[in-house]
Amino acid sequence: MPAKGWIEVNDLYCKACELCINACPQKVIALDMGRLTPKGYHPAHIVADGCTGCAICALVCPDAAITVYREVTKAAAGG
Ligand code: SF4
Ligand code: SF4
Repeated sequence: MPAKGWIEVNDLYCKACELCINACPQKVIALDMGRLTPKGYHPAHIVADGCTGCAICALVCPDAAITVYREVTKAAAGG
């Protein structure tokens, strides 16, 4: 079973460059057209299930706006 993850995007840093959207292998990130950040951008957000917590989005984000969380299963934690 693939790992389960999720992300949080910091509105103060996101500049809507869409790099994370293009990099996500699961295609679960999109810009939130219903919201604006304090800087006036539509921020990235997670839009579907399927995030594996691979952290590629966080690696490509030039503004370090993304925090990745990964669910730790009992097996992965070693018991
Ligand atoms: S952690 Fe991986 S799967 Fe999850 S949103 Fe980021 S790039 Fe996509
Ligand atoms: S890569 Fe970073 S700055 Fe660009 S849209 Fe994604 S979260 Fe926002």
